[in-house]
Amino acid sequence: MTSLRHWLIATAFVSCFALHSPSACAAAAATLEVDERDIGRGLQRVHLVLPVKPGKLTLIYPKWLPGEHAPTGPIGGLSGLKFSAGGKAIPWQRDGVEMYAFHLTVPANTTTLDASFEVVSELNAGNSNAVRTATDALGLILWNQLILYPLGVQSDDMQVTASLRLPAGWKLGIALPQTSINGDTVQFATVSLTTLVDSTGLAGKYFKTVDLGGTRPVYLHIAADDAAAIQISDATTAQLRRLVKEAEALFGATHYNEYHFLWTLSEQIGFQGIEHHQSSDNRSAERSLIDDSLLHASGVQQLLPHEYTHSWNGKYRRPAGLATGNFDTPMRGELLWVYEGLTEYIGMVLSARSGLEPLADARDSWANIAADMNSHKGREWRPLADTAVAAQLGYNIAPEWVSRTRGVDFYEESALLWLEADTLIRTKTHGAKSLDDFCKIFHGAPSTAPKVVPYTFDDVVSALNTVMPYDWRGFWMERLNRIRAGAPLEGLKASGWHLTYDTEPSVEQKGDEASTKTASYFESLGFGIKDDGAVITGLVQGSPADLAGITPGSHLVAVDGRKYSKDVLSDPLKAGGDASRVIKLLVEKDDMFTTVDVHYAGHARYPRLERDPSTPDLLTAILSPKTP
Ligand SMILES: [Zn+2]
Repeated sequence: MTSLRHWLIATAFVSCFALHSPSACAAAAATLEVDERDIGRGLQRVHLVLPVKPGKLTLIYPKWLPGEHAPTGPIGGLSGLKFSAGGKAIPWQRDGVEMYAFHLTVPANTTTLDASFEVVSELNAGNSNAVRTATDALGLILWNQLILYPLGVQSDDMQVTASLRLPAGWKLGIALPQTSINGDTVQFATVSLTTLVDSTGLAGKYFKTVDLGGTRPVYLHIAADDAAAIQISDATTAQLRRLVKEAEALFGATHYNEYHFLWTLSEQIGFQGIEHHQSSDNRSAERSLIDDSLLHASGVQQLLPHEYTHSWNGKYRRPAGLATGNFDTPMRGELLWVYEGLTEYIGMVLSARSGLEPLADARDSWANIAADMNSHKGREWRPLADTAVAAQLGYNIAPEWVSRTRGVDFYEESALLWLEADTLIRTKTHGAKSLDDFCKIFHGAPSTAPKVVPYTFDDVVSALNTVMPYDWRGFWMERLNRIRAGAPLEGLKASGWHLTYDTEPSVEQKGDEASTKTASYFESLGFGIKDDGAVITGLVQGSPADLAGITPGSHLVAVDGRKYSKDVLSDPLKAGGDASRVIKLLVEKDDMFTTVDVHYAGHARYPRLERDPSTPDLLTAILSPKTP
């Protein structure tokens, strides 16, 4: 990665004047030195020097993180916090209400304040309060964890000059402009606090950088826990290069100077993706690039296309309520059905158009979404719009009960609705227009450096009306606010396909099970099972298992008197049964054992799409490549 920095020293100053007023550029910059030599142990050390004025000062640790849509800054990892000026210690006091605020008094005649602290993380990757982002072989540098800023400051207006000392011999991938490299210490150009926090880095011992082409340069940086895992195939590289081409063709412009995919391959760090303007932080299973079954997992196939789409939809165009000026102003999530829902849709479209997701897999993904949303019975009490408004709760709710609570349905259900919008445009204009035209209008030309252009609901309606005059306000108001049992499958039907079921999992469904280390019985008995400990995960409301009184989180010990394994449970489901069949599940919960009778006469059921010959096959048209 370090060899790719040739043009960046010059552009750092260009972006300063492009993004900020000259006076903001002239303000003294904070200097931030981060020592990552112990990152593998879960210890990062920070020395921050802030320009200050004498008097009372409140410093904020970033709380509301872009892309997370929630006040989830992992402050539980903040440790060893000390302030000083001129070598003299300065006491601090945490705010009694706002846990992310620290009050202190800067002495007279003081112009700089020294802050030092550590950031610790735990081996338990599920603890979001001190989230684990490193192993002995790789580490993510998340600047939001490594900075404090004065209360009242807008992040565009604060300048930071950062440096990073890496473990010996590690390589680094990052979108942040670098000015020099001295041994294992990397010095970065002065940037705004906005850009700093938006520029996650990925460092590692086993590291590979791949050029993905692009009108503006796009790179992939891979770090893994093992040298074998970074061996990306020529076929996957070609698909990723095609992803860049297809995205450029879809949007007709870019809004980055260069783009860096960071791909962390580790079993020790939670699988997820976080978008940034000029990069994305993608985390998946260690063998994602080298295991054939994982290459068919939707979570692997769609991860990079989704996060890349966010550079246009989410970072460049951003709902006004999410375009806050700093990291302590609360965000409003009401338009996440566009921010995440449209990104889910476009990400799925681009993963198919790029070939990362073969057409058969892409159809299985749509079948999975349709079935998954059908199983979310919470639609009977809670409209889709409310899942977006309450997004800051949705990411942290118990996944076991998501069929009842809905969680973050503004991803998948909105994708079904954007499919409906796309098919509507294609049908009514007889194929002359599509949602691709919306993307060009809303996210497209002219190409720009990173900047945020906020939008409102009215702006979305207006752009849709430019593509095709229609009652788009009514279309969305109805679908966002209605209460009804079934998932919105009208778009799927209009695309020429309908939801059906097979008794065998598809290649992609097997890949999803391998990737998530679970087995899915959601569409038959009504639950999933984690490989580790045979823990019963999410439970479908009204399913045979729910009616039998199964408690999610309990352990499945035996099936009809035999110790549980995937085969022991799957075999009777494959065989099917008559109406009187009872499957006896021995379940352990709270150190107590109970036998539960599950009444289920059917077969194993895995979602599939089936072609409806009476309707044109718009889905295949939507998912087919648009570039030669
Ligand atoms: Zn997203």
